[in-house]
Amino acid sequence: MEEIEKEYRALEIEKKWLNLWDESMYYFDWNSRKPHYIIDTPPPYPTGSFHIGNTLNWCYIDFIARYKRMRGYEVMFPQGWDCHGLPTEVKVEEKHGISKNDVPRDVFRKMCVEFTEGNIKKMRETMKRMGFSIDWSNEYITMYPEYFKKTQISFVRMYDKGLIYRAYHPVIHCPRCQTTIALAEIEYKSGKTMLNYIKFDEDVVIATTRPELIPACVALAVHPDDERYKNIVGKEVTVPTTEYKVRVIADEEVDPEFGTGIVMICTFGDRQDVKWWKKHDLELRMILDRDGRLNEKAGRYQGLSIREARQKILEDLEKEGRVLKKEEIDHNVGTCWRCKTPVEIIAEEQWFVRIEHDRILDGARKIKWIPEHMFSRLVGWVEGMEWDWVISRQRIFATPIPAWYCKKCGEILVAKEEWLPVDPTKDYPKIPCPSCGSVEFVGEDDVLDTWMDSSITPLAITGWPYEHKEYPTHLRPQGHDIIRTWAFYTILRSLALADEIPWYEIVINGMVLGEDGRKMSKSLGNIISPEEVIEKYGADALRQWAASGSTGSDVIFTWKEVVSASRFQQKFWSILRFSVNHLKGYKPDSKDAEKLRLADRWILSKLNRVIEKAINSMDSYRFDETLKAIRGFAWYDLADDYLEIVKSRLYSGSEEEKVGAKYALYKTISALIRMLAPFTPFLAEECWNIFCKATESGNESVHKQSYPEVEEEFIDDDAEERGELMRRIISEIRKLKHDRNMALNAPLKSVMIYTEKEIDTRDIAGAVNSKVEILKEFPSIETRIKQLKPKYSIIGPKFRDKAKEIIKAVNSFGEKEMRKLLEEGYEIEVNGEKIFLEKDWFDAVEERVFAGKDVQVLEVEGVIVLVEI
Ligand SMILES: [Zn+2]
Ligand SMILES: [Zn+2]
Repeated sequence: MEEIEKEYRALEIEKKWLNLWDESMYYFDWNSRKPHYIIDTPPPYPTGSFHIGNTLNWCYIDFIARYKRMRGYEVMFPQGWDCHGLPTEVKVEEKHGISKNDVPRDVFRKMCVEFTEGNIKKMRETMKRMGFSIDWSNEYITMYPEYFKKTQISFVRMYDKGLIYRAYHPVIHCPRCQTTIALAEIEYKSGKTMLNYIKFDEDVVIATTRPELIPACVALAVHPDDERYKNIVGKEVTVPTTEYKVRVIADEEVDPEFGTGIVMICTFGDRQDVKWWKKHDLELRMILDRDGRLNEKAGRYQGLSIREARQKILEDLEKEGRVLKKEEIDHNVGTCWRCKTPVEIIAEEQWFVRIEHDRILDGARKIKWIPEHMFSRLVGWVEGMEWDWVISRQRIFATPIPAWYCKKCGEILVAKEEWLPVDPTKDYPKIPCPSCGSVEFVGEDDVLDTWMDSSITPLAITGWPYEHKEYPTHLRPQGHDIIRTWAFYTILRSLALADEIPWYEIVINGMVLGEDGRKMSKSLGNIISPEEVIEKYGADALRQWAASGSTGSDVIFTWKEVVSASRFQQKFWSILRFSVNHLKGYKPDSKDAEKLRLADRWILSKLNRVIEKAINSMDSYRFDETLKAIRGFAWYDLADDYLEIVKSRLYSGSEEEKVGAKYALYKTISALIRMLAPFTPFLAEECWNIFCKATESGNESVHKQSYPEVEEEFIDDDAEERGELMRRIISEIRKLKHDRNMALNAPLKSVMIYTEKEIDTRDIAGAVNSKVEILKEFPSIETRIKQLKPKYSIIGPKFRDKAKEIIKAVNSFGEKEMRKLLEEGYEIEVNGEKIFLEKDWFDAVEERVFAGKDVQVLEVEGVIVLVEI
């Protein structure tokens, strides 16, 4: 066997295993007889960098996947890429210096595909370097036709079921990105704005933060119980800057406390306007176009941007003396998640997915949420939803909506499943218009929201829509930031398409915060990339950091945690190095268990408790608890205590004595390596390889081994209690050596122990380097005064040149005289002069004597230990 280096070189060893590992070891086999465990992994957005937040998420997934494999499951850990979307369109425009409308749609799409492929390649590398046990044979890429065909099938099926419809309805629109966005994509920002009090006529003054929307005013509203305005309900008032009149209506939802208590209803200032517009069946006056400019309905303000219109209208109103007051107020404004521009509401023909609130909540309730409180986030979101999900987008790089409009009669024709995949901007329907027989169509050029692709992942990975092999899947791991999007949409789609919940369990991870405890951001300069950590400490150390936080909570990135993870790796390496040296050629035999000594039984009992704890906490996704238990056991119980206790037996014991220690050590090391495998796959593989070579037990990967099982027969309270006592006796004796500046392996004359408990003197003797004797009777120990120590600070100044003589005299005292001096003082004669020595001028140095031997007395939990140095 080659010499094992003292230092654990994480970077070299990790690279070595990356080259040696065979990826197919993680391929999922549908035909496997093992119970299946299918993970609906998140398909990340291919930005080109796999960030530290992704790392945390994927570490959790990998801990689970590796653990479940070792527990006997056939695990599917697929990897998808959620490619479509606005950010890529923007990046590609920047990269090529074009606007998407400068080139044909398919040329632009091709640019996006190429760009995305490059990004996927980069991210894939980081994921491989992290040692994730991904099944790369189950990779899916949403921008490729084989995947988006499934998205289109899902659209067609939901359309046929009446769950998707096209309608003229207000939608949230970003004037900068010029596309519709979903409610879930709005980010609220708080800030200050001006509240303007504007006089419509003598009786009617309104307060508004959006004066530019006055030309879109379709009604005024007051609270029905507002005494101030009872007389104006039903009155018609001319809208300033326009010629037309609107009516004052009463509605319970008007807040009489806000502004003047009269509210202007526009189409549309906010979602409340939409509600009133529907409820009171008001007229629609859309003055805003998609590009964020006012149109002809705004009269003389046509062509102005929102900001310009606000200024111009306020100027005009001021000239007319209609602006009575302006006050600054705090307000929340909804902005686009991507570009932070305030969003607008416009009414357009769009495609919608029907939201069935109760059905979704009933489904979500059947899923186990970890941690549990995350479920309430979904409930809150669903209960607050007033609108259906708008799924059409005005973009290019996305899954095409498989639909056409008849040029002649306007009929909507949605593709048949067998025509898919289609791009209606290029392809034609295979049948004439079912309503008028015309063969002339206009293809839909709106595309689908990206969440339409990613919300069918659990279906897609289980064979739907062709041969749907198994459903629901077992687990969805994801971040808490996308509960109201990805989790919500997936549950909705799964119920709609498969009439089933998508997964039995969902485990939620938190976000990663910077070392300063704040959200990582470029402007704060606190971003850490996984590559940066890997280059310094390797992937295993970063993986251990990921396991350090509690599941569901945000985790702070700290270098300190990474450093201590890397120290643990070195510690474990040293443990292995020591152990395999003694395990060369050893194969455990059940007969060896009969030769176990107390220390061996003690460590095996503790080991089995750690295994029990690890299984329990892994099963409930408490990775921090598992790793902490394993690390604590390896570092303290095994290395600091057990190995120190059995060292002498292993080095110089008889074969008979050695075998128990070898058996216990073999079991402990084997179990520890396997328990570490889900967390530190590289370290575990290297250690397993060395361990197997030493013990001549094959060369199969640790990642194909089974997880340690609890062996109940080794759990032994009595051995733990007596083992603990033994450990403490040894540690007290070692402390004594330390306090006397003795080497820890320095020999002692003898150690005598009085205890009624049976303890193993062989191992104590070895550990403290002394013969050890058990006393049958309680030892009678005498205390002797060995010497009197003069207090020089008193005697020196008082007697000066006589001090020396006095000390000489005292030193010649016998036991009896010394005792007398300490009790009542003592008179001596120095050069004929009588001197009385006060008792507090001296300290006693005592010694304990047992059977005539000078001993140190230690007490450990009622056990008397006598040490003769
Ligand atoms: Zn935007
Ligand atoms: Zn037609």
